[in-house]
Amino acid sequence: FIESLSTYARLFIEKIDRPDVDDIRNLRPAVALQQQNTIKTSRSTVGTLTEIHDYLRLLFSKIAQPYCPICGKLIKQWSPESIVEDLISNQKGKRAMIIFPSDKRVEELIRMGYHRFREDGEVILDRLIIGDEKRLTDSIETAWSEGGGEVIVDIVGDSIIRYTKKLMCSDCGFIAEQPHPMLFSFNHPLGACPACRGFGNVLKYVEDKIVPDKSLSLKDMAIEPWSKPSLRWWYKQLLRGAPKSGIDINIPYRELTEDKKRLLFKGTEYFYGLDDFFSTLEEKKYKLHVRVFLSRYREAVVCSECGGKRLKAEALSYKVASKDISEFLEMSISDLKNYIKDIKLSDHHKIISEEILKQIYDKLS
Ligand SMILES: [Zn+2]
Ligand SMILES: [Zn+2]
Repeated sequence: FIESLSTYARLFIEKIDRPDVDDIRNLRPAVALQQQNTIKTSRSTVGTLTEIHDYLRLLFSKIAQPYCPICGKLIKQWSPESIVEDLISNQKGKRAMIIFPSDKRVEELIRMGYHRFREDGEVILDRLIIGDEKRLTDSIETAWSEGGGEVIVDIVGDSIIRYTKKLMCSDCGFIAEQPHPMLFSFNHPLGACPACRGFGNVLKYVEDKIVPDKSLSLKDMAIEPWSKPSLRWWYKQLLRGAPKSGIDINIPYRELTEDKKRLLFKGTEYFYGLDDFFSTLEEKKYKLHVRVFLSRYREAVVCSECGGKRLKAEALSYKVASKDISEFLEMSISDLKNYIKDIKLSDHHKIISEEILKQIYDKLS
């Protein structure tokens, strides 16, 4: 049965060893039926129809690196080794205090042998001149574990550097999420753009459909949806309230200023606007005729939050060889194949991703 599953699915299943037995009786064979489902929905692309998207998500969860969407800088995950490396190469010869934050009580810290403190529960672990790698490593490692993955290095009279195990941009404070494979799926709430729920576009009410004939005045029923007999109430309250809000109901719609047109949507203290109207109707969307009615005034526009990439910013902040996952999915099969063949990766990442890249390459062939 397991052989009938995709390689990707098997990655999650083959964690159980084969049982150590010679003979099993009275066990019926498992039957697996293949689901025939090739219907292309608005959620499908080449990447979702094939297994390639799954492999790319796996690839991203293993080797993608997060870049801050605000400043574009690589967000590093610090470790004691990389902190020491950073300090030796950038702060050598300077006097520094190695500090860690703690929420323990002072009495307890004193019992543990710490005697120097700063305000806000910060413990001064060591004062040293950056240079002796052995001593620096010892101090940083201790501070890192006492501080639960947080170390503060006060370069005396210069700057304060905060190192954290969190995936955080040190300049902007943007925190990247852990690169779970689901983070790279627009079908999963963990990865989907919250504004368009992973569809890549949103439905917007558009002026051209609401006011198809802009030579009409408001009095001549320029606003088409409100000209329906059953919705005249909306029109009456507009014609009553608009003059009080400084809107001329006798001139053609196209001659109204942008500010006045905006008021027709937003409403004023004297009348309800089109936004109120549409949101009132949306509460009755469970009725088919309401949905049909609303759809006549809407158009799908590219989601401004994700730019049509369907994933949330935290997912798009991750890149492999300078491309985010949606840029991989947009590539044609032959482009993706060539790209993967010549992909530039660090030796470490090459080893981790070799098998996945080979699988993607084979699927594309
Ligand atoms: Zn930043
Ligand atoms: Zn979006």
